[in-house]
Amino acid sequence: TIGMLAIDAMGNISGACTTSGMAYKLHGRIGDSPIIGAGLYVDNEVGGATSTGVGEEVVRNVGSFLVVELMRQGYAPEAACKEAVMRIIKKKPETAKNIQVGFLAINKKGEYGAYAIQQGFSYAVCNAEKQDLLIKGKSYY
Ligand code: ASP
Repeated sequence: TIGMLAIDAMGNISGACTTSGMAYKLHGRIGDSPIIGAGLYVDNEVGGATSTGVGEEVVRNVGSFLVVELMRQGYAPEAACKEAVMRIIKKKPETAKNIQVGFLAINKKGEYGAYAIQQGFSYAVCNAEKQDLLIKGKSYY
């Protein structure tokens, strides 16, 4: 999945995502990306979130919506992403050892963060000062 979150000079947040789905997917499988609340969610009062990885686990946990709701409760973006990842791990610890799910989030202040189950999840940040900032996201494993 490629997930994008943006905040403009007025503080308005938007997001988009696109995916090719999973390799060897069943015909007709939808995944999380086209489901608002799963692969992408934006509430302009709070922030936005998007996900990548095994969409089935993201859908089961309404992952991006969960991240935004956690930010509404006061979680910082990275902490919200981590909590959403921990829900997936807690529910299916054995499955989680072998799958990747990562979340990326931004809040109204323009703070951003990410967290994934597995290592290797990096994301790019682009703003007026930096056009090429590549950040290595934190992960559980
Ligand atoms: N999240 C996507 C899906 O499950 C896979 C991906 O990360 O591209 O369809």
